[in-house]
Amino acid sequence: MVIVLHKEDCPDIPEHSLHVKVKKMDDLVDEVFSLMQKYKIPFHHVEPHNRNCPGLKFPLEELEHKLFILEH
Ligand SMILES: [Zn+2]
Repeated sequence: MVIVLHKEDCPDIPEHSLHVKVKKMDDLVDEVFSLMQKYKIPFHHVEPHNRNCPGLKFPLEELEHKLFILEH
């Protein structure tokens, strides 16, 4: 199981709780971490939708680092 990150205006977000729109980093961390705990998903199973979504500007490493710290 993975948590998929999407940009705000992605036209292809499935109606599923494991698809998350990116938002302010602190709120995103809270949302993704609660899903990780609920579904027992490790931080390295959080991944971007594709190359353009949420896009190269999204600080994925920063998010992963914050999730890693919460998880440990
Ligand atoms: Zn997307």
